[in-house]
Amino acid sequence: MQWEIINGTLVTPEEIIKEGSLTVSQDKIIKIGKRSIHDQKGIQIDLNGLIVFPGIIDGHDHLLGTYLPRVGDRKPYLNWLMWDNDLKSSPIYAERQQVESTDLYLLGGYRHLISGVTSVQDHIPHFVREMFRKNVPIRLIDKYTMAHAVCSFALPWGEIESEHQLAKENNIPFVTHCSEGFDEETKKSVSVLEKKDALSEHTVLIHGIAFSDEDIDLLYKNKVNVVWCPVSNLYMFGTTAPIKKLLEKNVNVCLGTDSPMSGSVNIFEEIYIAKKFYFEKYGTKLTSKKIVEMLTINPSRAFFRPDIGSLKQNNKADFIVIDGDPKQPYEAFTSMQYENIMLVVIDGIPKYADENFIPLFETLDIPFQKIKVAGSKKIIEGDVLGLLNRIKNSVNFDKKFDFLPIEPC
Ligand SMILES: [Zn+2]
Repeated sequence: MQWEIINGTLVTPEEIIKEGSLTVSQDKIIKIGKRSIHDQKGIQIDLNGLIVFPGIIDGHDHLLGTYLPRVGDRKPYLNWLMWDNDLKSSPIYAERQQVESTDLYLLGGYRHLISGVTSVQDHIPHFVREMFRKNVPIRLIDKYTMAHAVCSFALPWGEIESEHQLAKENNIPFVTHCSEGFDEETKKSVSVLEKKDALSEHTVLIHGIAFSDEDIDLLYKNKVNVVWCPVSNLYMFGTTAPIKKLLEKNVNVCLGTDSPMSGSVNIFEEIYIAKKFYFEKYGTKLTSKKIVEMLTINPSRAFFRPDIGSLKQNNKADFIVIDGDPKQPYEAFTSMQYENIMLVVIDGIPKYADENFIPLFETLDIPFQKIKVAGSKKIIEGDVLGLLNRIKNSVNFDKKFDFLPIEPC
């Protein structure tokens, strides 16, 4: 069915359209423009000036690791392996292991959905993910090749040379953790990739804490993409990637939450800490517009998905509607919280919304649950309350998650 939103503040890569309208048909945006182009065929929703952004693309997470609290008794760490050893031997990991992996995936999906994230790069081999991703309510970026990390103690998730070659042949990204730590081997990660001929526009490097100036020159020269995860890095290592230099050198930088067991509770915290860290470290502001780019058009480019990450005719209808000052849309984006997320649409289907959007869900015949999220009345596709109940039964107590502050309504 065709439907249209009107009178919204639409943020496209080129301009901010006031009193804008956008028409959805099937899974696509079929029209976008200044005024209503309503042709009486479908439904029309008046947004009264609410702000419309492309759906957020989170550049790095591990959905199987969607659990809390964080682990890290011996931080700051020298590299990822020491943290992973602490994780695997912790009581909280034993508790997490009692939850079905399909439910951890659902937890991850809902964690992102209620914060406006519509697509996630989930760092795990395809064959593992396919077993667990059933009914995840967000888009998982599907086409990628990967290695776990650039070091001799990486997990055997993919071999760097052949995976990078495969990515080039198929015009898809090659994703790997890189330079996450400070041991002598980890510090040489970028030169290892160079020797393996694995630096190109297809390469997406996660973290980059130990990048040197020479590394950054190589990344720029080879059009390599980087995913910055400041919360996880600052938590585990007490420092993060040289973000100012990366941006000054015009490296394509995306933002990622990582899993909540080392990273942020949600994308709101990631944005807040990214801006705070930048200002405290460099004495200048990281603009809200740059942050928006790191979560929309930059990952669209890094992950070879031109059909998501911008409001454009014929793109996928992945977008979010938020409540905020329409005169300052970028600032509204970087300061939003759960209550400000009014509508989340993925593949043309409304998945989550403020209760005012009940008529839209009903007209499109989308089943939903009524819930309260951080005190605000919302509606959501699927059975998130059943999920929380299953987890309660798995761990034998009423487990609460800061990233899913949900109660029945
Ligand atoms: Zn990771």
